[in-house]
Amino acid sequence: MTKAEAIKVAVATAREGVTYSLKDGAVCPLCGARCPVVSSPRGEGALKVRYHRCNNAECVMGALGVSVKSVQREG
Ligand SMILES: [Zn+2]
Repeated sequence: MTKAEAIKVAVATAREGVTYSLKDGAVCPLCGARCPVVSSPRGEGALKVRYHRCNNAECVMGALGVSVKSVQREG
């Protein structure tokens, strides 16, 4: 996979939503760093949805302005 393809996949994953873990929070689908929450959690049925922003300086997700959606299934 080229870097451009990896970014495309990571952006798609970020839009779709990564799994939120009570222990580890949400991690960036591109660089794997833990992403700070930028919105308050919002309930969607039994799920809790949050938005995060990767602030790893080496990672392009933040530079691209892509928010990472997370979905909390437990609790
Ligand atoms: Zn990242």
